[in-house]
Amino acid sequence: MTWQSPIAPGISWYQATVGERTEYPALDGSTTADVAIVGGGYTGLQAAYTLAKGGVSVVLIEACRIGDGASGRNGGQLGTGQRAYPDELEAELGYERSKALFDLAEHAKRYLLDFAAEHGIDMEFMPGQMNVAHKPGHEREYQHTAEIAATRYGYPHLRFMDAKETAERLGSSHYHHGVYDSGTGHIHPLKLVVGLARAAGAAGAAIHEMTPANAIRQAGGKTLIDTPKGTVTANRVLIATNAYIGNLEPVTAAHVMPIRSFIGATVPLDKFPSVIPGGEAVADSRFVVRYFRKSRDGRLLFGGREAYTADAPRDISAHIRRQIAEVYPELKAIEITHGWGGSVGITMPRKPFVREVMPGVTSIGGYSGHGVMLSNYCGKLYGEMVLGRSSELEYLRELKIRPFPGGPRFRSPLLFLALTWYALRDRF
Ligand SMILES: Cc1cc2nc3c(=O)[nH]c(=O)nc-3n(C[C@H](O)[C@H](O)[C@H](O)COP(=O)(O)OP(=O)(O)OC[C@H]3O[C@@H](n4cnc5c(N)ncnc54)[C@H](O)[C@@H]3O)c2cc1C
Repeated sequence: MTWQSPIAPGISWYQATVGERTEYPALDGSTTADVAIVGGGYTGLQAAYTLAKGGVSVVLIEACRIGDGASGRNGGQLGTGQRAYPDELEAELGYERSKALFDLAEHAKRYLLDFAAEHGIDMEFMPGQMNVAHKPGHEREYQHTAEIAATRYGYPHLRFMDAKETAERLGSSHYHHGVYDSGTGHIHPLKLVVGLARAAGAAGAAIHEMTPANAIRQAGGKTLIDTPKGTVTANRVLIATNAYIGNLEPVTAAHVMPIRSFIGATVPLDKFPSVIPGGEAVADSRFVVRYFRKSRDGRLLFGGREAYTADAPRDISAHIRRQIAEVYPELKAIEITHGWGGSVGITMPRKPFVREVMPGVTSIGGYSGHGVMLSNYCGKLYGEMVLGRSSELEYLRELKIRPFPGGPRFRSPLLFLALTWYALRDRF
C-alpha cells in the first residue's frame, strides 16, 4: 500500500520497499498506564519496548502512523560518537565526560545491532562510513580526529584517507580528503522502526496510531494526555515527538526546532560501478551536510537540501539531482525514482535534549541529525531509568542546552536567518 506521511513530503523509497507496515488502532476511549509515551519513532518505541519487557504497563500514542516522522525517512547513517567531535566535547566538558559520551554512543551502536539481530529485523545494515572534506587544507584536522579516536577514545576503526583514496572510494574527485570509519555503517530506517514497533507490541505495549496528543496537563499527582477520543492518565510521561513538538509542550518547543531535509533515490547504478564501489555511506563537511550512500540494491540515496521554513520544494528530485551532479557529473540525467523529506530536530549546541519538563514528564529529542543510533538508545535508557536499572541517561541530562532565542514568536524567523547565513558560507 502506498502511504503518504501527513507530516512530511514525498513517498520515500523506504516506503516502497518496506513490505507490510502493521496498522495499530487509534485510541477510542480513555485509558490508564504506568507510563504514557507521546510519539512513535525510535525514541518512543524503544522506551515502550524496554518498559513493557520490564513488566511496566505502557501506552504509546502516535499522531500519524509509525515511521511517519524522522525515524522512517532518514538517511540511515549510524555514525560514531556524538555529533560534536570528541576533542570539541573534551574542551567543553573535560575528558571524563567526553569519554562517557563517546562510550554511550558506542553502547548505542552495539545495542542497535544486537536488538535488530535478536528480533530478526532485517534493517539492511551495510558497513562503512566516510566523512569527507569539501574544502582543501584540513588534512591535519582529519588526521588528528583519527588519532584522537584511537589513542584517547579506544576507537581504532577510524583512519585518514588522502585525496587519491577518497576519490577512489567515492568514485568522485569532488572531495579533498576524509576519514574512513570501518566501525559503523548504514541501514534501511523504515524497516527498523516497523520491526521495532512489532517488538514493542509483542512485549505488551499498547500502541495507538492516528492518536495525537492535544494537551498534556497534571491533576491529582497524575499526568493526563488529551486525545481526540479519550484521555490517557499515567504516573509518568515521555515526550518523544522530536522535531514535531509543535505547541504541545513549551519547554521542549523552545529547545528543539525543526529543519527540513530532503533525500532522493536514483535507479540502481548498474551502469556506474565506480560510484561508491564499496557500498559505504558518506557525509560531507558542509554546514548543510550532504549525506549519501548506496542501498543494498545499488541505488544512490542522496540527501542534502535543507529548508528552514515549513515549505517543501515543489520538485524535490530536481534539487537533489543538481546536488548529485556536482559530485557525480556523469549522473546529471540519472532518473530519480523517489524524492522525500522529513524534519530533523536540532538544538542550539547540536547535542541531545533530555529534560524533566514537568514533574514526572521527561522530554527527549533534538539529536541534531545524529539520532539513528542515539534515539534508539535514549529510548531504551529512559525505560531502564524508570525500571531503576541504569543511570546512563544522566550524561545527556547534564548537558547544558540553551533555548533558541526569540521566544515563541521570533525563534523561527531568527533560526531561518542564522541558518541561511551559515548555509551561504558553504559556497565560499
Ligand atoms: C531527512 C532526514 C535525514 C536524517 N538522516 C539521519 C542520518 O543519516 N543519521 C542520523 O543519525 N540521523 C538522521 N536523521 C535524524 C533521525 O532520523 C532522528 O534523530 C531520529 O529518527 C529521531 O527519532 P525520534 O523517535 O526522536 O523522532 P521521530 O522519528 O521524528 O518521531 C516523533 C514522532 O512523534 C509523533 N508526534 C509528534 N507530535 C505528536 C503528538 N502531539 N501526539 C502524538 N504523536 C506525535 C510524530 O508523528 C512522529 O512520528 C535524519 C532525519 C531526517 C528527517
